[in-house]
This record gives sequence, structure tokens and C-alpha cells, in this order.
Amino acid sequence: MNVITAFAYLLASVLFILGLMMLSSPKTARRGNMLGATGMLIAIVVTLTDQRVIDYTYIIAGLIIGGTIGLTLAVRVKMTAMPQLVGMLNGFGGGASAMVAYAEYLRMGDSAAFAGVDVLITMGLGLLIGTLTFFGSMIAAAKLQGTIGGAPVLYPLQKQSNALLLLVVVVLIVLFVLDPSKSYLLPIIIGLAAILGVTSVIPIGGADMPVVISLMNSYSGLAGAMTGFVLSNNVLIIAGTLVGTSGIILTNIMCKAMNRSLGNVLFAGVGTDYQGPAAETEQRTVVRYTPDDAAFMLENAQSVIIIPGYGLAVAQAQHVLQELASNLIARGKTVRYAIHPVAGRMPGHMNVLLAEANVPYDLLLEMDQINDDFQNTDVALIIGANDVVNPAARYKKDSPLYGMPILNADFAQTVMVCKRSLNPGFAGEDNELFYNKKTMMVFGDAKATVTGLVQLLKQ
Ligand code: NAP
Repeated sequence: MNVITAFAYLLASVLFILGLMMLSSPKTARRGNMLGATGMLIAIVVTLTDQRVIDYTYIIAGLIIGGTIGLTLAVRVKMTAMPQLVGMLNGFGGGASAMVAYAEYLRMGDSAAFAGVDVLITMGLGLLIGTLTFFGSMIAAAKLQGTIGGAPVLYPLQKQSNALLLLVVVVLIVLFVLDPSKSYLLPIIIGLAAILGVTSVIPIGGADMPVVISLMNSYSGLAGAMTGFVLSNNVLIIAGTLVGTSGIILTNIMCKAMNRSLGNVLFAGVGTDYQGPAAETEQRTVVRYTPDDAAFMLENAQSVIIIPGYGLAVAQAQHVLQELASNLIARGKTVRYAIHPVAGRMPGHMNVLLAEANVPYDLLLEMDQINDDFQNTDVALIIGANDVVNPAARYKKDSPLYGMPILNADFAQTVMVCKRSLNPGFAGEDNELFYNKKTMMVFGDAKATVTGLVQLLKQ
């Protein structure tokens, strides 16, 4: 590697790290994204000018085909389907790393016998982690998309058989390292890793899939780093390690926000298919209010905390919600947004959605910053959120939500819930907040309801 290449890789790595740092705040996230992308552009251009590339035909064809598919997906995919897309992209990353590792073995031919132990170990691990990531991510994406059922698929001795499978693959990698001429071992490693990818994700419930996707993101980084060692490519090692570590940090954040351990997510088989309301719902009554009642209540409130949730994203009501908030602020009311760490379907979902509608960042408050303010607030306005305000999380031990910190919406003087029905949220848990005496249920699509409120307030 010449000095210019080494320097360019170093620069790209610094840009990745700065970009990641800037992603931690909404104010700097866009610039951080640009820095990371610039680093990647530098890394790609420098790699393409490497003298080992002798024919660009396949590279250009790959760029055109991959670029077209990527662009089409990025333009077409709905915001709410983003976790599935991210899941698939992680899977492709892992699959690509595994293929590069295998291709490098084929390229080495007989000289593989003289390859260093480090290269052979990382080749085997790259194949294992990359293949597992590809198949695991595809199952996770299919579960989120609803292509296959979200309920955990459980069978006897599941953990034991998965552990045994992993052990067998590790033994095969050791055999391969001891004698790299045994080329038949690699397809067996790939096949078993593929089975492991499927069997380790099917027991996990659909509601936990975003955590799995974050974990797979981490695996795809690790697979990339392994392949970096195989190719002796520093920037791939650094970028892979950054993805691997940030993925595991994100996984940890999500687990903490749901008050679950990673072990519980991976092995407890929690969650079911999305279902209708529980039977007990029918016996209780809720008070249904019209948008006129809601507008009257808002007009008379001094302080409002808006709680956005997944339904806001489904309805694409963020722009009209911002209009409603501006209207209330113009009338001298205190309006803020309370952001729960797992509101929506992916980390930062609500922040991205509200940033799209140009909601000022200083109005967005994290759960810890605002939870004590609900008791002094006139109206908690819940738009398409459910699990993140479900009081069952505080006390109902058999609930999948139990232990998850929630937004204290029920402490406000009045709770206003805008959603289409009494259906439960993602965790499938009925929400007693809807039956609370101080709760006003305003049924309907979030966008239609909020649009109606804006018009009524303008009159
Ligand atoms: P939620 O509990 O899934 O509830 C969303 C509600 O939105 C539903 O009850 C639905 O009720 C309503 N809705 C759907 N479409 C609507 C529309 N067009 N207009 C109005 N309302 C609509 O959402 P959440 O409170 O945001 O909680 C997120 C859930 O996802 C949590 O369980 C969380 O653990 C899970 N999760 C999130 C992440 C993450 O990273 N964010 C990761 C893992 C898991 P109707 O059908 O009655 O309208």
C-alpha cells in the first residue's frame, strides 16, 4: 500500500468517526451523515484506483445495478418500513463480506496453504458471521414486513441445538485453519451458518425484531472487519469495527429503553402476532369525544405536551401536527413534545419525523427531561402512540411491557388520545389509559383529526 492510499484511508476513518460523533445530536446529524458519506466516497475511490484492480467491467456493472436498486428502494420505501429495509441492507453487508472472504480463498488457490493463521481464522469467522447475518437479517425483515408470522417459533431443545450447531461450525473453522487445503469445509461452514442464522432468529417475537436488526447491524460490521483482515485492508477493518461497536451500543440502548436484557430478547421468546383488543376491553367503556370538544379543551389549556407515536408516522401527520403546535404557541400556550426512546419502530423515529416537519429541536424533550412535568400540564395530547404511555408497564408483571419506563401522560390534568380504535399497540397489550375518567378518546386517522383541530382553532 502506498503512502497516498494509507493517508486517504486514514482520512476516511477520521471522517467516519467525526460523522458518528455528530450523529448523536439532531442539530449536527445531517452534517455528520455528509461527513460519513464523504469518508466512504474517499475510501471507495481510493480502493478503485488500487493497482490490483485489472478489469472494471464487473465493478461498473455492479455499481449500476446495485445503485439503481438502492435508489429505487430509498425513494419508494415508506418511513414506517425503514426498519425492514435497514435489516435487509445489513443482511446484504454480511452476505457481501462472506462472499469476499470466500472469493479471496478461491483466488489464493494452492497458496492458501501458506496463508497466515490470522488470515485463515478471520476468513472462517467472516464466512460464519457474514452468512449468519444475511440469513438472520432476511428472517428479521420478513417478520417485520409480515411476510412471515411475527410470533416466536419455539421447539424443544432449541437453545441447545443452536449452541451445538455453533460449536460444530467453530470446530470446522479450526479444522480449516489447521489444513486450509480442505476446501470442502467452507461450503459446509456456509450451509451450517445459514441454518444458524434462521434458527437463531425465528424464536424471537416480532416486537423484538428492531433489536435483532440492530444486533445484525453489529454482526455485519464484525463480518466486514473480519474480511478487512483477510484482505489486509485497514479502512475496512476500521469501518467494520465502528459499525460493529455502534450496533452493539444501539442494541444496548434499545434493550435498556424496554427494560429488557439482551439475553431476554434473544432467548425468552416474548411476543405474539399482532392481535385485536383483549376480551376484557368489551366490558369497559370509553368516553368518545368529537374534534370540537378537543379543540375547545386545547383553547382553554395553558400547557400542552404532545406525545407522538407510531400512528403519527403511519398517518404522516407530522406537518399538520407542527401547524397545530405553532397555532397553540401563537396563542401563548406552552407546547412541547415528549419523545420516548422507543416510540415508533426504530431508534430516533420520532426525531426524524418531526425534524422533517421542521419542529424546532428545543421543543423536543427526552422522557427523563419531561416526565416530571406532566403533573403540572393541562393536556397530554397523544397522537398515534400507545405502548409508550401504557400504565400496565408499571405494574402488570405478565405484560410484555412490564418494566419499560413510560411517559407519565396519565399524570396530566386531561389526556387526549387521537387514534383510530381501541386496538392495542405493538406489544399487543390493552391500554387502561383509554378507560381513565380524565381521558378523551378522539377516534379517527391522526392526520384527519389533527387537520380538523387546526381548522377549528383557526375559526
Ligand atoms: P404503538 O404502541 O405501536 O401504537 C401505535 C398506535 O398508533 C396503535 O395503537 C394504532 O392504533 C395507532 N395508529 C396506527 N395508525 C394510525 C393512524 N393512521 N392514525 C392514528 N392512529 C394510528 O406505538 P408507540 O406508542 O410509538 O410504541 C412503539 C412500540 O414499538 C413499543 O412497543 C416499542 O417497544 C416498539 N419498538 C420500538 C422500537 C424503536 O426503536 N422505536 C424498537 C423495538 C420495539 P389504532 O389502530 O387504533 O389507530
